[in-house]
Amino acid sequence: MGGQNIKKDLSNCSAMLQELGQIVTKPVRIMIVCGTHTRAILRYNLRDFIPENLQLVSGPGCAVCVMPAGHVDAFVKVASQPDVITAACEDLIRVPGSHDSLASMKRKGAHVELISTPMEALKLAIDKPDKIVVYPAVGFEATAPSIAETILEAASLGIDNFCVIPSIRLLPPTLDTLMCDPELSLQGLLCSDHINSVIDSDAYAQLARKHHLACSIVGFELADILHGLINLVKQFNAGTTEVDMSNSTKFSSEESARAARLVSEVFFAVDTDWRGLGTVEESGFVIRDELSLYDATKRFKIRFSEGVEPCMCQCDKVIAGLKLPTDCPAFGMACTAQSPIGPCMISAEGVCASYFRYNMDSMKTTL
Ligand code: SF4
Repeated sequence: MGGQNIKKDLSNCSAMLQELGQIVTKPVRIMIVCGTHTRAILRYNLRDFIPENLQLVSGPGCAVCVMPAGHVDAFVKVASQPDVITAACEDLIRVPGSHDSLASMKRKGAHVELISTPMEALKLAIDKPDKIVVYPAVGFEATAPSIAETILEAASLGIDNFCVIPSIRLLPPTLDTLMCDPELSLQGLLCSDHINSVIDSDAYAQLARKHHLACSIVGFELADILHGLINLVKQFNAGTTEVDMSNSTKFSSEESARAARLVSEVFFAVDTDWRGLGTVEESGFVIRDELSLYDATKRFKIRFSEGVEPCMCQCDKVIAGLKLPTDCPAFGMACTAQSPIGPCMISAEGVCASYFRYNMDSMKTTL
């Protein structure tokens, strides 16, 4: 987005910025859960336009970043098997495991294809019947319906050379764990409306009540983000702990019900490891036994190990909102967008990548 467009958007939102300036009367800390929201806030350099008392803390909402090295090790192990094609998105193939990434395996001769959607991986399997196409499914709950749909499509077509390594994580249980950390001391959560399609707002309503938090679920435009921040500050001032969805994308009840049905037909929740956050109860999906043909962990008999994280990297603390990228000694020195070390610099949704790309000079004490 060019400088002119940024100025125009900021000018169009000047009344909202002014309102924010008036209603922030005491310190308030808000977690920006989603990596795309963090990137937008940095792109607009919002810190220069909002009151100092409004502190924004980045959260764990980058799916590639929160995946531990041990999961990449599993992807690498499967990619090294004969007759396997690994079909993965670009961000993912660059993330390092304990020793290798999918990109380094590709350089060593493994067959790794870049794709954007799970259906593309299934199409590859149909086109290459003499190979097994493996799709490492990395994402949050919002990605689960399309992955479930692809697995069910493979089953209905009788395709047996396609399988998935499930590495899908669920944000509400992890946010619940994070909110117990007194060091964070938050008053609000700004969440993306991606979640709308599968998780009903009850999970967030429970979270808000349990931790006395305001919660706002919004889209990705500047006006959406400002709407969310204004709502959160107003809730904080009034002492309410509600989930505001008035400015989020609306999904029909049929769409939501279909998504929920697909997910429950294919997956169930289990305790899952997160980079920097440890094992969180029922925070990830695995594939049901009835569909084990499509579960690469069973087909290739792999288990997720702990893995070794890149040395020097402090992504674990950045993900938990406990450190800024600029607190990491490698930031902008050994670790840059051109030569990234950890997933938070590798992924376009990563906080370090957003910091590096936008407004490094104006970084303050939060976001
Ligand atoms: S700057 Fe690089 S090394 Fe440091 S935490 Fe971020 S990704 Fe990891």
